[in-house]
Amino acid sequence: MVPTPRLPTTMTTLQLIDLTCPVCNAQFRSQAVLATNAFGGKRTDFHERAAGMQPLPYFVHMCGTCGYAGVDKDFDKDVELYAETRERVWFTLPASLAREGPCGSIKYEHAALVASWQGCEPRYLGDLYLRAAWCCVDEKDHEAERYYRRHAAWQFAESLEQFDGVERSERAVITYLIGELWRRIGDEDLASSWFDRVPLEIVEPTVQEWVLDVTRQQRQTPREWFG
Ligand SMILES: [Zn+2]
Repeated sequence: MVPTPRLPTTMTTLQLIDLTCPVCNAQFRSQAVLATNAFGGKRTDFHERAAGMQPLPYFVHMCGTCGYAGVDKDFDKDVELYAETRERVWFTLPASLAREGPCGSIKYEHAALVASWQGCEPRYLGDLYLRAAWCCVDEKDHEAERYYRRHAAWQFAESLEQFDGVERSERAVITYLIGELWRRIGDEDLASSWFDRVPLEIVEPTVQEWVLDVTRQQRQTPREWFG
């Protein structure tokens, strides 16, 4: 018997989950990631690609009534929201919802806004904006991609300024990432100034040698993907 060749198939599996919005009490169904893979490689801004369908837009959920958005835990029954956050959701988010529609990047943008109103750390906000930018790669919206990359870079830069915003062992890689974000935005000068700072943030030379290597590479002959 001839063995059937095993071709890679779509390995991201979604499931429908029931959510209740903690702001407007609307009940809605959202697609969530049940399983995924990371066989599609990784870009030099750490954007991990899955084979087939990308899971990224489904790690975050958005209420279609008021525009509130967040990850699973932001829809927990006991989630505590400031009164001011609720007001801002009502008065700020629905307008942009009607304008843009609930694609992955918009869901992440709303989640980042809610998180900032709730006083979340810049590092977390940076992660949400970075994911919004990654979604734009698949949405083929280059202008929005640059817009979110800028917000991610600003938030990561702010996290480095805070006394304990980033673990000592992670400062070098975050500094590299900010440089890489500015490079992808197209601001070579800002990219260079951040890449210059990477060696100063190294605390474990052997373990972090790869950060210096990738920084050097992105300055000299930039690549879009890790090798
Ligand atoms: Zn709602």
